[in-house]
Amino acid sequence: MEFKNSEILYKKGCENLVGAVNSPVRAFASVGGNPLFIDKAKGAYIKDVDGNKYIDLVLSYGPMILGHRNKKVEKAVTRALKKGYSFGASTNAEIKLAKIVCDAFPGMDKVRFVNSGTEAVLSAIRLARAHTGFDKIVKFSGCYHGHMDAMLVAAGSGLATLSLPGSKGVPSQAVENTLISEYNNLESVKAHLDKYNDVAAVILEPVTGNMGVVQPSDDFIKGLRKLTKERGVLLICDEVMTGFRSQFGGAQELVGIQADITCLGKVIGGGFPVGAYGASNKIMENVAPLGGMYQAGTLSGNPIAMAAGIATLTELEKQNPYKKFDLVAEKIEEFLLSSAKKYGVDLTVNRFGSMINPFFASNEIKNFADAQKSDTKKFAKFFWAMIENGVFLPPSQFEAWFLSSSLTIRELKKLEKAIDASMQVVG
Ligand code: PLP
Repeated sequence: MEFKNSEILYKKGCENLVGAVNSPVRAFASVGGNPLFIDKAKGAYIKDVDGNKYIDLVLSYGPMILGHRNKKVEKAVTRALKKGYSFGASTNAEIKLAKIVCDAFPGMDKVRFVNSGTEAVLSAIRLARAHTGFDKIVKFSGCYHGHMDAMLVAAGSGLATLSLPGSKGVPSQAVENTLISEYNNLESVKAHLDKYNDVAAVILEPVTGNMGVVQPSDDFIKGLRKLTKERGVLLICDEVMTGFRSQFGGAQELVGIQADITCLGKVIGGGFPVGAYGASNKIMENVAPLGGMYQAGTLSGNPIAMAAGIATLTELEKQNPYKKFDLVAEKIEEFLLSSAKKYGVDLTVNRFGSMINPFFASNEIKNFADAQKSDTKKFAKFFWAMIENGVFLPPSQFEAWFLSSSLTIRELKKLEKAIDASMQVVG
């Protein structure tokens, strides 16, 4: 396989872009080699600038749940483009998307649209602080909640990939109210709540994708809901990744809890920049112009992004691909485990709906410390072998693979072959 044009663009890109990327997760830092540059994508496939075609399991890190260039979404976006791109005043499209989102999440009476998952989380945290009058926030190691200062502690995603414990440039005061707990360990939360009576909120990915896929145990997630309620602490579910992906009503619907504040992103913009945070009327009344918690955005509720979001969620509800996702993920798990066994590779597979992760490890993966025991060198070998076999994966052991509803039996067969050939290289 040739990557000549990607190499040329990488060199050129490095002149005016940091590492030739606009988000560090796109660099191939932990797998070696240069990042691929993409030319175009359609359905389940993505093509690089050298004409190499791959089954896409990155899907823009989650948003492209219907696959690329879904006809309905493209039509809606084209129609919206012809009416103007941004007005600085409200549109009917914002009301329509808000209704779809609030109907899907029972805990949400009102929603506010922003432009990214990071903005959704930073606004949700400000809201929790405004509502309770307290500053402390409990977060879990390995969970990633975007790049706001207070959340760049023991974070997953790109920080896990680059082995960064936090970020330079974050003032110590910005993180002094961030308390760290261990995922799937209720006692580690209880210890903080016993020690401090000024905790505003506990934030978590209700199913993680940013330390790889990790499911909460039933006891942990239900216990966390009960504990936070008893102590008057708000529970923030960061469903930027899982919202509308795990289930139409998010991971909350599947794990059987209701958050006080929910953060959304990715799928709700159908590939355009949208984030959102929402809660009950009582909590949302804190937000300006109703209340004194200020949060704003020039491009928030952008009409093109709203049109893409409405079309994506409408089509998603119609397709209802969630059972299919489970079946496809089950098959991929089978392929991974059987080829790992065949070639003597230690592998643990975690999955939840349309998110799946093979960890090159023999241990069970219940938290970040477990995930970090994975052999990232083996992952790097596997990653490049999958590229050679026509599958585009996130270039990190700690990022979830995403499925789209565009995958068919044809792609599953290709995946089976690619996985077997790639596992042989690792074994
Ligand atoms: N929260 C979660 C759970 C995420 O997975 C991400 C991004 O991957 C974010 C927040 C930040 O979203 P964004 O990259 O849109 O700022």
